[in-house]
Amino acid sequence: MAGLNKNNSAVKRILQEARELANDPSPEYSAAPLEDDIFEWHCTLRGPAGTEFEGGLYHFRILLPAEYPFRPPSIMMLTPSGRFETDTKICISFTSYHEELWQPAWGVRTAIIGLQGFFPLSGKAAVGIGSIEHPIVERKRLAQLSRTWTCPVCREPNLALLPDPVGTSSERSAPSEPPAPVSTPNNPDAALATPPAPNSLSSPQVVDPPRAQVLQVKRQQRPPILLDTAICLILVLACGIVFRRMF
Ligand SMILES: [Zn+2]
Repeated sequence: MAGLNKNNSAVKRILQEARELANDPSPEYSAAPLEDDIFEWHCTLRGPAGTEFEGGLYHFRILLPAEYPFRPPSIMMLTPSGRFETDTKICISFTSYHEELWQPAWGVRTAIIGLQGFFPLSGKAAVGIGSIEHPIVERKRLAQLSRTWTCPVCREPNLALLPDPVGTSSERSAPSEPPAPVSTPNNPDAALATPPAPNSLSSPQVVDPPRAQVLQVKRQQRPPILLDTAICLILVLACGIVFRRMF
């Protein structure tokens, strides 16, 4: 990026968005400009939960015009989804097909979230350039295949670019949760074996074992249930004896 004119308003804006996305990543998508062309971004997006695209990971190009942000980005899907044609500019309200609907206050993040919202649309709402309506079974099959799909430019499979969030799907429904670290290997054993970096995003994983240990220690300090029962029985017997002597 050495040859970039940083006084250019589009360049300034794009660099600002790239920084913002890197500092506040989402578990739903991972996007960054290409190293040799910041006007082309590559993004991996999670298929919306509760749809036939759930579990799918979809890679696409975001092409920003020289007049960005005053003219909208274009989006081209690369991973087959059964929902959007590949290598075709997708016609949705925030892309260059609908310039009049684009607002300069929007950004790459808006476009990505908007695209995710377009996945489940069907019927008339889904019609447009770049839209296809494949059967649900086929979309589910493609969703599974998409996880290992590898972009020829990024040269990493989708699952490596956007690993599944650690834990259950309940974590996925909370958008404010910190995402799983992108660079850590998807191997829980390796994650536990390596000491945590000072500002590592994986620190929540490391916090859990001590908490579990504290609980175990507390459990050990409590007298066992048998002892509780024995004390109760002795008290009842003693009361019985006292009552018999009184009456
Ligand atoms: Zn790519």
